Amino acid sequence: MGRIRVGIVGIGKIAKDQHIPVIRANAAFELVACASRLATVDGVANFPNVDAMLGDGPELDAVVICTPPQAHYEAARLALRHGKHVFLEKPPCETTTQLDELLLQAQRANCTLFQTWHAQHAAAVDTTQVWLRPCAVRNGRIIWKEDVRQWHPGQAWIWEAGGFGVFDPGINAISILTKIMPEPVFVKAADLSFPANCSAPIAADVTFVTASGAKIDAAFDFRYAGIPTWDIDIETDHSELHLTGQGNALAVNGKQIAAGTTETEYTSLYRRFAELIDQHASDVDRRPFQLVADIFLVGRRSTVEPFEE
Ligand code: NAP
Repeated sequence: MGRIRVGIVGIGKIAKDQHIPVIRANAAFELVACASRLATVDGVANFPNVDAMLGDGPELDAVVICTPPQAHYEAARLALRHGKHVFLEKPPCETTTQLDELLLQAQRANCTLFQTWHAQHAAAVDTTQVWLRPCAVRNGRIIWKEDVRQWHPGQAWIWEAGGFGVFDPGINAISILTKIMPEPVFVKAADLSFPANCSAPIAADVTFVTASGAKIDAAFDFRYAGIPTWDIDIETDHSELHLTGQGNALAVNGKQIAAGTTETEYTSLYRRFAELIDQHASDVDRRPFQLVADIFLVGRRSTVEPFEE
């Protein structure tokens, strides 16, 4: 197979920071087109929307979707209808049924749907999963706190319906949790804080339980002005695990046992995308998305002061 010709939809922060440089550094891929309403990318064919890119653009093998989640389903649906492989940024869609439908469409079109969780590719996540596999988990704690003004400046979509609010980063923690835990995790209870002027939560306290009854408390907060905290602590029958830096460093019983590697999350994601295309396979893991949907189902809601950027 020749190089995989890629078009990116939605040229914003993640497309510029990760996708464009990582695609250009990977010999298996060739970036040939972009579709964005305002932004353009040097050296490729630029289009104002995905329709124009698919209809009038150069030949493509794959479409990478980097818009906010509210626009994911429609862009992915169009790409699959045109017979293109799809790389879907997180969170996958607005609703879980949209994701199920996309997988069916990919299977019918004999195309790859790679629904990604970049945090699952962080440096210490695989090691943590292997470490926990034989363990009985007693309890756990997730703290995922950051300053939304610093990390998501100007992203009005995050506060709109379908924008996920604090679960835009929070779903990263949940994607790590579902990957590392040796048994299924469920949502037991949640308290969601919605700013009076927003349709998505700014903070949430969630209680998860495992199938065997271990409790995992989680605190997600966008109002945290200090150094961000992206930590997961797990206590087992014989060890205490401390996974820090968004899954990039693991200490067990106080001793550092895994930390950053040379391969970044997005380098790993594109290696996997090429493998999936080669194998005519899809990769969809809906558990983190389902847990966030469940949090919205059972969560008690309170209104807090309006959010002003
Ligand atoms: P962003 O900076 O706001 O960029 C998204 C781009 O999509 C916008 O610049 C906009 O470009 C385009 N767009 C198309 N439809 C849009 C709509 N209805 N509303 C707003 N913009 C629209 O967002 P981002 O941080 O890159 O995040 C995009 C996706 O990647 C999200 O699903 C996010 O969760 C995920 N992600 C982000 C990060 C991160 O660190 N930022 C990390 C991993 C994953 P035009 O105006 O030119 O169309």
